[in-house]
Amino acid sequence: MNLILMGLPGAGKGTQADKINEKYNIPHISTGDMFRLAIKEGTDLGKKAKEFMDQGELVPDEVTIGIVKDRLSKDDCKNGFLLDGFPRTIAQAEALKQLLAEMNQSIDYVIHVDVPEEKLVERLTGRRICPTCGTAYHVLFNPPKQEGLCDKDGAELIQRDDDKPETVKTRLSVNVEQTQPLLDFYDAEGYLVKVNGDQEIDKVFQDIQGFLEK
Ligand SMILES: [Zn+2]
Repeated sequence: MNLILMGLPGAGKGTQADKINEKYNIPHISTGDMFRLAIKEGTDLGKKAKEFMDQGELVPDEVTIGIVKDRLSKDDCKNGFLLDGFPRTIAQAEALKQLLAEMNQSIDYVIHVDVPEEKLVERLTGRRICPTCGTAYHVLFNPPKQEGLCDKDGAELIQRDDDKPETVKTRLSVNVEQTQPLLDFYDAEGYLVKVNGDQEIDKVFQDIQGFLEK
């Protein structure tokens, strides 16, 4: 089972990835983890990637693709894999397709966890932090006992700049611009399945299972 998981920030991708990993025993491969592993193992590609990252530059596709190839060749991928955060561009999607063809494999499903943008704004702007002890709350999902105040020390909770509506909306629209071409690409290739992410976590997972066990 070779899967790609897609969704905007706040759509609950990470949670669903954990559930898929647990149920089907296929590794959850995020781009960040993949780079960290290659760097830790000290492979040539890992060293190259580190040079770019240390200079604050984007790692070029040929290096990234090589690292993906190494990762997908590992033993734990023999029953499949769940890619998260890769591919990011059409060029990477094309390269992945070619790479899998060389391995006599292909993608089975690209799962799009779909949540309306206004719901994501609600989720992503709800976080509140205690400036004294660092405890995180969420106005909808994990509210403090007394509105606006930390349960532990009574300090007034703050909203970080990253969580303010304008910042969140900008981050989302940048992400939409990046992911829409990929969704169109995989739709045209016939791999895309859309799951309604605006439901209870377990219901979202049931819907994913519905596709995977078809
Ligand atoms: Zn506190």
